[in-house]
Amino acid sequence: MAELDLSKKVADRYLKREVLGEGTYGVVYKAIDTETGQTVAIKKIRLGKQKEGVNFTALREIKLLKELKYPYIIELIDAFPHKGNLHLVFEFMETDLEAVIRDRNIFLSPGDIKSFLQMTLKGLAFCHKKWVLHRDMKPNNLLIGSDGQLKLADFGLARIFGSPDRRFTHQVFARWYRAPELLFGTKQYGSGVDVWAAACIFAELLLRRPFLQGSSDIDQLGKIFAALGTPSPSQWPDMVYLPDYVEYQYVPAPPLRSLFPVASDDALDLLSKMFTYDPKVRISAQQALEHRYFTSAPLPTDPDKLPRPAPKREPKASDFDSHEGPTVLSPPRKSRRVMPGRDGFEGNSLQRDKVEDNVGNSRQSAGDNTGKNDPAPMSLDFSVFGLKPPNRPTINSADRSHLKRKLDLEFQQPE
Ligand code: ADP
Repeated sequence: MAELDLSKKVADRYLKREVLGEGTYGVVYKAIDTETGQTVAIKKIRLGKQKEGVNFTALREIKLLKELKYPYIIELIDAFPHKGNLHLVFEFMETDLEAVIRDRNIFLSPGDIKSFLQMTLKGLAFCHKKWVLHRDMKPNNLLIGSDGQLKLADFGLARIFGSPDRRFTHQVFARWYRAPELLFGTKQYGSGVDVWAAACIFAELLLRRPFLQGSSDIDQLGKIFAALGTPSPSQWPDMVYLPDYVEYQYVPAPPLRSLFPVASDDALDLLSKMFTYDPKVRISAQQALEHRYFTSAPLPTDPDKLPRPAPKREPKASDFDSHEGPTVLSPPRKSRRVMPGRDGFEGNSLQRDKVEDNVGNSRQSAGDNTGKNDPAPMSLDFSVFGLKPPNRPTINSADRSHLKRKLDLEFQQPE
């Protein structure tokens, strides 16, 4: 009871404003902290109907995240249970890297790309030093403040609340950032999964579209191997012992330069080190920061000089167009041989998402400048991939109720 009284008191501190969007774990509101006058973002996570209204293991872990203070990590200001929901209070951020990448009016210079990647790696290196993995790195989890500072968001939530089920459509694009060891079902993984995802984000900054857009885990691996070559057992000795290992037809690696025609030699060297197959050999976030890419000209742009999307507007239904249907591959079997081929790049597999489910997610459609028919802002060679950049899927209402049920179940289990 004392706990409930306390949570009510804490909840009274924040003045709720509009809904900012709905994410993996629940609705996010804008709010004002009446004690400090600071604008904050409150993530409301439904916990289910436990007696105490909260899972204390989750709260303990969340409290550990509060200790993770660093300029490149979004600050978890407060965490409290209220009316059966867990509320996480974060510093408010203006936009995110996905909005920047998608904004057709924004030109990203090599120095801008370097700056965004450097801030991402700084955040990652700090957390890895503290033995915390992100596990859900993607451009819309890299938030950008009014001073241009990029900060990693949702750190550790995947571990605390469980990785959302892959069946959920809004998680489809998280697959695009998944390391090959995860796709092969490894149970033991480390900070290398975040470095792989950061490499995908680096590639996306260079291309201005997601680099490897698989429609299933097996298709994702096919796309990775088509782009970077099929790994040989000598290159990655542990690969063949992974639980979901499937043998893929050998495809030699095309020159990375052919995929990233405008990138510098240093950029490509760092990218190839971050895209190393064997996680034991893959460069760490700290080592990546020490790469000559960050000290060679042009230097990283000062955060406050980085381009930002135009002010937000209400989302339009036309922002979420349909695209090509999936090339569905049959599920993996250990003995099956998969033939990725060069056509691994062709076709985008994502199905149309319900327009209604995107309403309210103002961040995703920031700016009135996401028109897909506009020319790309850089000299990009989309023909390598066959198609124009797709929109990203978001969660639909059926998925949402599944997700809620899943969270309820998880939180009802005894510790
Ligand atoms: P996801 O789980 O899909 O990554 P989130 O739950 O992190 O999504 O966020 C949902 C939406 O809430 C985002 O699209 C964004 O618009 C908004 N949001 C999340 N965190 C913040 C924040 N700290 N500041 C401002 N807006 C935020």
